[in-house]
Amino acid sequence: MEIIFLGTGGAWGLPEHRCPCATCRHLRAIGEHRTRTSIWVDGPARVLIDPGPDLRAQLMREDLGRPDAVLITHEHGDHFLGLDDLLCYRRNLPAEQWQPIPVYASQATWAVVEQRFGYLIPTLLEKRIAEPGRDLAGPPFGDRLSGRPVKTDHGPFPQGSQGYILTDHSGPRPYRLGYTSDMIACADPEGFAGLDALICQSHFINEPQVNRANHLSLQNALGRLQRWQPGRLFLVHISCQDFIPGDEPANAMLKKFKPAEPLRDPGGQPYPIPRDQAQWQEVAGRILGDHGLNMECQVAYDGLRVRLGDA
Ligand SMILES: [Zn+2]
Ligand SMILES: [Zn+2]
Repeated sequence: MEIIFLGTGGAWGLPEHRCPCATCRHLRAIGEHRTRTSIWVDGPARVLIDPGPDLRAQLMREDLGRPDAVLITHEHGDHFLGLDDLLCYRRNLPAEQWQPIPVYASQATWAVVEQRFGYLIPTLLEKRIAEPGRDLAGPPFGDRLSGRPVKTDHGPFPQGSQGYILTDHSGPRPYRLGYTSDMIACADPEGFAGLDALICQSHFINEPQVNRANHLSLQNALGRLQRWQPGRLFLVHISCQDFIPGDEPANAMLKKFKPAEPLRDPGGQPYPIPRDQAQWQEVAGRILGDHGLNMECQVAYDGLRVRLGDA
């Protein structure tokens, strides 16, 4: 299968509009940006995970056709507000050729999504319920591609939060790809264990003293990754919310969080807070290596395409 990282940024993209912090200033200066996190999987079927508010631009940039299925992880706007952009596929076909796109989400996520996009159902979108621990039912899921939700905890509002595991059965051996969703914890500690590849949220480097956003920091992810041991790792949903020493008064902003206890290198020094893609790749690689995690790790960026498995 091939995966395309349509977007790799946090809920408000990077740099964030009007943000004066050191990270956003640096990103503006070098012209680097991340759109809202969204993934395209091109395997035995084309699966779009999390159609966020940047979807139209992302689909145009990668020149992608109609997906065979859409998976939504939870009911925050940055993960589903692009659904309306899928209308282009229906509008530009002869009426009799159109087949609604199956969209999977948990019951609780659907309650919110349907309130917003009820007018798209059932002509554009076919509502399908995806519950944790149960294989996704109906085509395109079946013998060649299977999917299974994994319950995640992303705080009190997105009650329906869940990640997904997709298994490609079309090669000489099954290939298992996981996508964590936004999360701070996972109800099933083994939920994402033993995958060939894992796409993992890394919203901060350091776990904040008060993680009001209920997002996964790389620090919080380390213990899980040691248990899960994915063959390959991709980091996404990157924000500018880490506290940066010396970046006053930007550190006083509501969205900036002091670390509980910053990650330190073997010499006892806190790791530098990465700002751009190259720094993220370097710092994340060092942190993982220093914690005995030697799997191939790629900090994903918008437009990154990776071929996985043998199929
Ligand atoms: Zn998000
Ligand atoms: Zn979220």
